[in-house]
Amino acid sequence: MTSGPAATTGTETSTESPYDLAPQTLRTRDLIDRDAKSVWHPFTQHQLWVDDVPIVVDRAEGVWFWDTDGRRYLDGVSSLWVNVHGHRTQEIDDAIRRQLGQLDHTTFLGLTHEPGIELAEKLLATAPTGLTKAFFGGDGASSVEAAIKMAFQACAQRGQDRPLYVHVAEGYHGDTLGAVSVGGIDLFHHTYRPILLDTQMVSSPGVLGPGQTRAHRAREVLDELAALLAREGDRVCAIVIEPMVQAAGGILTHHESFLTGVRALCDQSGAYLICDEVATGLGRTGRMWAVEHAGVSPDLMTCGKGLTAGYLPLSAVLATDDVYDAFLGAPGSGRTFFHGHSYTANPLCAAAAIANLDLMAANSTVAHANRVGELMGEWLEPLLALDGVREIRRIGTMTGIEVEPRGERTGFEICQEARRHGVWIRPLGDVVVLMPILAISDADLRLLVDVTSHAIQTVVR
Ligand SMILES: *Cc1c(COP(=O)(O)O)cnc(C)c1O
Repeated sequence: MTSGPAATTGTETSTESPYDLAPQTLRTRDLIDRDAKSVWHPFTQHQLWVDDVPIVVDRAEGVWFWDTDGRRYLDGVSSLWVNVHGHRTQEIDDAIRRQLGQLDHTTFLGLTHEPGIELAEKLLATAPTGLTKAFFGGDGASSVEAAIKMAFQACAQRGQDRPLYVHVAEGYHGDTLGAVSVGGIDLFHHTYRPILLDTQMVSSPGVLGPGQTRAHRAREVLDELAALLAREGDRVCAIVIEPMVQAAGGILTHHESFLTGVRALCDQSGAYLICDEVATGLGRTGRMWAVEHAGVSPDLMTCGKGLTAGYLPLSAVLATDDVYDAFLGAPGSGRTFFHGHSYTANPLCAAAAIANLDLMAANSTVAHANRVGELMGEWLEPLLALDGVREIRRIGTMTGIEVEPRGERTGFEICQEARRHGVWIRPLGDVVVLMPILAISDADLRLLVDVTSHAIQTVVR
């Protein structure tokens, strides 16, 4: 069933019998052929797709998945930052099956159901103080879209004309146009600038000058933000940030004083604070919510990715009474939030999310994740002695290892090397990202760290 690297005890690095990347079986070759003919993948340059040899995933269990040639891979980035307890976790499988036997789907427009209600209650019970209402969406981007519309409309319905958003360089909030408008990653976003919302961008608190501390950088960007708000503050409906770490920007961590500072500036200027916790939420930073690191409560908070533990698409915006109340009025007042989706609060997704939250509580997943993060910090530290390693940035389990480029696709080549040793990771440019499944065991984490370290040494030495 499995070939190549076997489960390890933590001392082996599984470098003995590297995988040949080429497809081995007729079935795999056929699937890659058919894929190339009919499928357009996200964030993928299809000119390179087949030459880079895509992995055709066949099945998964725990922190592992298998390709159609029977090779096993450790899922080192939680299937792009979504998985929490492992693939095919019994409790979540069961919850979805139970829900299937009861109610598949009805609209949430004009109807309600127990899974939707229970999930709102359970999610809000974990949330920072002041967040009292949950509005559901599908993907992370759709929660950001809803949040930015809510902020604008709430202001408008309080008689304030505030059509401007403030966001942060290197930020990422998803790929729909509203979310792209508040994004700050040139490579992804600059193409669309002519068709985006009116925004103002401040510098990234995670991009440091030479020798600069994160605390000093936070102060510098806060000064920039304060100056911007002094000019335009009464036109700004919301400031949109990724709390504690700009994830897709390259795991750019910042000092928690940035969050408290932005909160204070929002209060002064009357702009809402939108914290996008799509990546950071649900334990990924070693706290349930990243804003807890700074003790900050946003006016609107988005979550997604880990919400269903990596099973099904579901996101949410959590809102304060202040935002919610701005939408109350007579039917003819036009104060309704005219926004929703066909599958809003889908019961199967909600059932998965409830089971996820229950399991996180039962297994103390957040505390475990915090410890996983500390172990990663300790075990990765020797890499800093390598010439080609510039910086290791980490908060909780969210880890980025920035390497010096050796050609055009250094990060990618490191990941291909890791793949030869049974570990699947995906880079952000020259940043090697590790984002382990939160419930990972020490032995599997050791393998992830050892193979990644080996791959970096092989490519950047
Ligand atoms: C991934 C991500 C999103 C977008 O979520 P999707 O589910 O991919 O639409 C939004 N915000 C942040 C911070 C993210 O990391």
